[in-house]
Order: sequence, then structure tokens, then C-alpha cells
Amino acid sequence: MIIGGIQKNSLIDFPAKICCVIFTAGCNFDCPYCHNPELVKPPYTPINPEEIFAFLNKRKSLLDGVAITGGEPTLQKDLPEFCEQIKSIGIPIKIDTNGSRPKVIEFLLKNRLIDYIAMDVKTLPENYSPHIAQNILPADILQSIQLIKNSDIPHEFRTTCVKPFINEDIIYKIARIIKDADLFVLQKANIQNTVLHPDFFENQNSTFSAGEFESFKKIVMPYVKKAMIR
Ligand code: SF4
Repeated sequence: MIIGGIQKNSLIDFPAKICCVIFTAGCNFDCPYCHNPELVKPPYTPINPEEIFAFLNKRKSLLDGVAITGGEPTLQKDLPEFCEQIKSIGIPIKIDTNGSRPKVIEFLLKNRLIDYIAMDVKTLPENYSPHIAQNILPADILQSIQLIKNSDIPHEFRTTCVKPFINEDIIYKIARIIKDADLFVLQKANIQNTVLHPDFFENQNSTFSAGEFESFKKIVMPYVKKAMIR
């Protein structure tokens, strides 16, 4: 595991749990609005996993969970073993993923190595290239969505609502793809100079108004068990 950071306490990264957040380093996507650019491309400043386990063993009575995020956690070859080791301490795991590695997701779900999974749906799968990711198969994104929806592990899909990746029609089509999901989160974007590609947003208003978010929520509500704006 290449671990690029740890946040020792969070109340917002694992639903209804006090958790710590482990950030894996490296990502196969290139989302212009990414807020963790230091975790996307090398050089990284890795943390020794032994330090993580020493921390978890010491704090296990105070933690309800561990959220593993990134970067993209499913790129880490030893992610299943890492999850097993956390499970052996007795701490539930949430994983965040971009959905590009359905085989890894399938393994984690089948072997019950995770307790919650959150997958980003960036836009329509056929539109990821060129700005979100190149060389990513739309079929892989769709397969990850099906695996997650069909599992009995609590889950959410979430979409960061940024122009030009999102509009009403795209939101409607995403809602149809994730139909019957536990939760769909419409995320607000905070476009600053510190995002991965700030130049992408130059001279354009890329965010949506509160009213537009409410319209998105109305569009998705008939298709999923719960929808929220975050
Ligand atoms: S926002 Fe995009 S580029 Fe950043 S870590 Fe997530 S998937 Fe990777």
C-alpha cells in the first residue's frame, strides 16, 4: 500500500460513524476539479502502513470505522490484505472508489472486506474521456455500478456537479443507470486554484445555483431510495 496521508478523526466520511481517513496515493483519473492533487501524481510522501496499524490498535476503542479514500484505493495491489488486517482489529471499513476496477470491487464485496462503499459517477460513462480519464472503459464503470447495486453492502453513488460534465439530462440518465441505489449524493464543487487543473475552469462559471441543485434532486428522487445534496 502506498499511503499518502491520514486524518485521525472525521465525523463526515463514514455515515453515522466517527472514523479516521486513510488516503492512498495514486489515481488513474485526472478530474480537473480534484481537491487532492498531491495524491494523484507522484512524488508522494508515503506513510509506513505499520504506523497506521499502530495508530488503529491504539485508538480502536474510540473509532467506529476507517474510511479508505484516495487517490484511488483499488489501484493498490495489497488493498484486500490491508482491509483484512483492519478487520482483524475489529474496525468497520468504508471505501471510496472511482469505479474503474470492477474486479477489485467484486473481490472486496464478495469477501465482505468492506462495510460501506461510495462510488463516484463523474458523468455519463461514455463521456469520461478525454477530461476525466482516458483509456477507461465505460463498461468497467457500468459493471462497478451493477456490482455495488446488487450487493447487500450499504452504498452510495455520488456525483460532483460541475459544468460541463453535468446538466439536467445527464443527471436524469445517471439516475436511470443507478436506479434503486441506496443513496445518490449530489455534491457541490468548490473550484479554487488548488484543484488539479484550475486552468480548465478559467473564464467559465462551472458551478450550479442552489435552485439548480434542487432541480437535480427532484429529477433523481423517483429513481433511488434516498437523494441528498452535500
Ligand atoms: S477526484 Fe478524480 S483525480 Fe481526484 S482522486 Fe478522485 S478520481 Fe482521482
